[in-house]
Amino acid sequence: MAKAILAAPEKYKLANYHLSGVSDNATALKNVQATAAGYAAKRSSYARAPGGYCYLQENMLRGMIKLAKQGYTIAISEIAGGGHSSTSRHYLGVAYDVTHINGVKVSWNNPYFRAYMAKARALGATEVLGPGDRNHSGHLHIAWPRTDGR
Ligand SMILES: [Zn+2]
Repeated sequence: MAKAILAAPEKYKLANYHLSGVSDNATALKNVQATAAGYAAKRSSYARAPGGYCYLQENMLRGMIKLAKQGYTIAISEIAGGGHSSTSRHYLGVAYDVTHINGVKVSWNNPYFRAYMAKARALGATEVLGPGDRNHSGHLHIAWPRTDGR
């Protein structure tokens, strides 16, 4: 699945930088490249991020692909990397952040974000945040269930 994502860069714009400006090998693009090569994805080690690695989980990758097949093109700012809250699902490889849908920046005025969030929930995402949720006015957070029992 990671290879399919890398093969369609027009549908999945994977950031190769962090919005924080920190440079490391844990960008969304590097995470998917590592997964396609059979490796774990690197996590960042700044702010509250724990460092180390995690495997990107199949249910998340499958959901990302199914949403693209429903006609969405997205820009992904973070998957396992970046700095998030200390217990973020990003660090488990089950979450991704979306900054643009169909070329339009995520905001309250984005015409696509509500449907994208609803369809993600229908595909099993259980932590879906966006405009109207605290700290998510400019991006969507799409996450599948935790894998660590917390
Ligand atoms: Zn997030």
